[in-house]
Amino acid sequence: MSEKLVRLKEILGEVSDLTHAAAVLEWDQNVGMPAGGAEARGQQLSTLAKIAQEKSTSDELGRLLEDLQKEYPEGESEESAMIRVASRNYEKARRVPAEFVAERALVTTQAFEAWVVAKKKSDFSVFHPHLEKIVELVRRYITFFPPADHPYDVLLDDYERGLKTAEVKSIFQDLRLKQVELIRRIGSVGQVRDDFLHAKYNEQKLWKFGERIIGKFGYDWNRGRQDQAPHPFETSFSVNDVRITNRFEADHPMATLFGAMHEAGHAMYEQGINPSYERTPLEGGASLAVHESQSRLWENLVGRSMPFWEHFYPELKKTFPAQLDGITLKSFYKAINKVEPSLIRVNADEATYNLHVMLRLELEISMVEGAVAVRDLPQMWNEKMREYLGVIPPNDAKGVLQDVHWSGGSIGYFSTYALGNLISAQWAEAIRKDIRDLDDRISKGKFDDLLGWLRGKIHVHGKRYEPQALVQKVTGAKIDAGPFMSYLEDKFGGIYGL
Ligand SMILES: [Zn+2]
Repeated sequence: MSEKLVRLKEILGEVSDLTHAAAVLEWDQNVGMPAGGAEARGQQLSTLAKIAQEKSTSDELGRLLEDLQKEYPEGESEESAMIRVASRNYEKARRVPAEFVAERALVTTQAFEAWVVAKKKSDFSVFHPHLEKIVELVRRYITFFPPADHPYDVLLDDYERGLKTAEVKSIFQDLRLKQVELIRRIGSVGQVRDDFLHAKYNEQKLWKFGERIIGKFGYDWNRGRQDQAPHPFETSFSVNDVRITNRFEADHPMATLFGAMHEAGHAMYEQGINPSYERTPLEGGASLAVHESQSRLWENLVGRSMPFWEHFYPELKKTFPAQLDGITLKSFYKAINKVEPSLIRVNADEATYNLHVMLRLELEISMVEGAVAVRDLPQMWNEKMREYLGVIPPNDAKGVLQDVHWSGGSIGYFSTYALGNLISAQWAEAIRKDIRDLDDRISKGKFDDLLGWLRGKIHVHGKRYEPQALVQKVTGAKIDAGPFMSYLEDKFGGIYGL
């Protein structure tokens, strides 16, 4: 290895250490820190971020990358992939002035506080001036980059490298009409029964049950743990320390099981990345959408499937005999897959979820284009909810104010959730060609072949391949809504007898 490459890895290794140290502090903030620690924690995180920013934009790093690009021209090798990713990160970071980063941190901190109050009071006017500032910042951010086909491309690229606004729009356009039509058909037939899912369930028993499931999936407990936090999330400090959090909601007790499966899907991805990518820009998942394709695959395509519950339902019934008394496997399966247009994205079922995302994407694009004024958002939100889902929020807390993302300046993020669903169905089609008896294996509680497939084709590569190139390499196709729509038609056609 050349001396310059050694030096590059040294600098980037330190940046990675700082980022992971910040992640430990953030994890602690969510699972253990007393409220009094908030101010000091904020300072600590801001100091770490500042040092990481200095290191990742230094002139020395720029010179090294320039020289190394000549030494390792664009190609298939791991070195050239690493230099490609590092150069892009460097170029992006250098384009954004430090004063802008500081201003954004200040604006979003205040916006977050305002959003909490606005949501609590269900009063958009409290959040309105802050969101206006955020939109202004986002539009300024776009100007730091070379002109794109669409200004929103710049934002999308931060979350889903290489993907264009026009591509996402065209993927969603047709899908939206088909999903709206599917839920209309479902709404015209009798609803399934699910009252027993909302009975009183013992929190500890459900928690343990979830842990047993994800252990069987292949989540490595020697390199992971599950803790309680207000919101479920996954975080990695190293390939050998990948943690998840979860919560118990009395109104939705089963969410504890599906939350564990979802976060374990993210975590198994991180645990499966090539260990030699540790402390390099190739560590971590390929993109947000590819990451979400893993969590959704385990949560929905596996965890909400009939074969899965053929294996686990007898045990669940034994654990909760009173709550599930007289409930057959088939009734249980139908209940956990109940389709019902609802107001809140995070609680949405598989058939309606993407519509919540499309609505946000359309509003974001309009905001960035300047085609919609922030003050008109609540009304536009409600109109689109009625058009896509047939429900109208009774107030802003259950409408435009429900998600935290905009308050943090994260505009450009939402579409990755829906894209993750689409990609998960594309993987599933490819998997079924290679593992012909997949359902049979799942119904016996065997997941090693499935995990092995994901490990070898997707996980191990980390960020080595661009997200779209990875999808193409594994499935032979670009991101495509076809397999997901067939999956929905098949599954819900069966459940609702369409
Ligand atoms: Zn997720």
